Amino acid sequence: PLVPWSDDLFEKYYDICEELGSGQFAVVRRVVCKATGEEFAAKFIRKRRYATSRRGVTRAHIEREVDVLTEIGGHDAIIRLFAVFETPSEVILVLELVSGGELFDHVCAKECLDEAEAAAFIKQILLGVKHLHSRYICHLDLKPENVMLKRRGETQIKLIDFGLSRRIPPGSQTKDMIGTPEFVAPEIVNFEALGTATDMWALGVVTYILLSGGSPFLGQTRDETFCNITAVDYHFDDCYFHSTSALAKDFIRRLFVRDPRKRATAEDCLRHPWITGPDAEDTVDPRKNAEISIAHIHAFKVRRKWKQAFHVVLLCNRLTRNARIRLEVARKQALIDGRPPQVETRFDPVMDGELLADASD
Ligand code: ATP
Repeated sequence: PLVPWSDDLFEKYYDICEELGSGQFAVVRRVVCKATGEEFAAKFIRKRRYATSRRGVTRAHIEREVDVLTEIGGHDAIIRLFAVFETPSEVILVLELVSGGELFDHVCAKECLDEAEAAAFIKQILLGVKHLHSRYICHLDLKPENVMLKRRGETQIKLIDFGLSRRIPPGSQTKDMIGTPEFVAPEIVNFEALGTATDMWALGVVTYILLSGGSPFLGQTRDETFCNITAVDYHFDDCYFHSTSALAKDFIRRLFVRDPRKRATAEDCLRHPWITGPDAEDTVDPRKNAEISIAHIHAFKVRRKWKQAFHVVLLCNRLTRNARIRLEVARKQALIDGRPPQVETRFDPVMDGELLADASD
């Protein structure tokens, strides 16, 4: 591998600074290289301790993330990996620091956005995805949170979080229930073969949200969302899409195609007029007259924040319920055994997060 794994002490080489973000089993912190003063983002991934545990990430999974990052780094739109450290409990990935925040936060902070600007962002994502797909690497977790900006105030995007990514050559029968429900393609819901087209569906969802603030398949429950996805049941509601250009809708329609073989590829999308913009002889760019409602995108961000908070409340409720059940069982057992009941303090938090179960675990 191009990036060797080191079991040397990480703190010997880097100063560890503030937290930049976190995921289910990883914390990302800003770090500074002691020798050069250069800044990086270090992703501390908790390793799974026992094969039967559901906490932490298996070494095989981390190796896969490292292999993918090693192979695809170097493209402008993709985060770069510089070094890997390993301790008995963690693997630490030293990544390029991305300081511009999430693309959607940047959009929300703007006063106005037209479709030409939105298309320029989608074009950058497409170029990154084309680079991945040319090596048959699928991201498999494309969503707004994983599209960041390299620097604040600048427009260079970076795709992050390759934790679910893998190589899926054409014809492979790789099947898995992974991803974030709102963004998964029908082949994931139906447990059919995945491939590069799976990312293109997710890109359709990202584009739909970026243009409208609405989520195309989101239902009241996870099952309802899945039904909407398999039925390809979505609409361009007037309240969200009244000012959207016909070109933009056509672009999205080519991605929301049930059969992955008929879905537009990254290359097809890069040739689409919504992305390429008007020809030299055209005098008007219809995308420039199509204003995007920042208020709607903002509402989307607020809904997501609420949803995340709701998940935390759910988790806490579940923990209290589990703790109560355990206490009750322990109390009854103590009564049967004729000993005083003990107070139970340990519970096993299994996050009811957004991700579907990874069937390969
Ligand atoms: P998840 O459980 O959501 O899949 P994860 O555990 O795989 O997440 P990442 O998504 O890679 O972790 O990182 C978690 C968060 O850390 C990101 O949402 C982002 O806010 C921040 N982050 C990740 N990589 C970088 C980076 N290179 N520079 C700056 N911040 C980053």
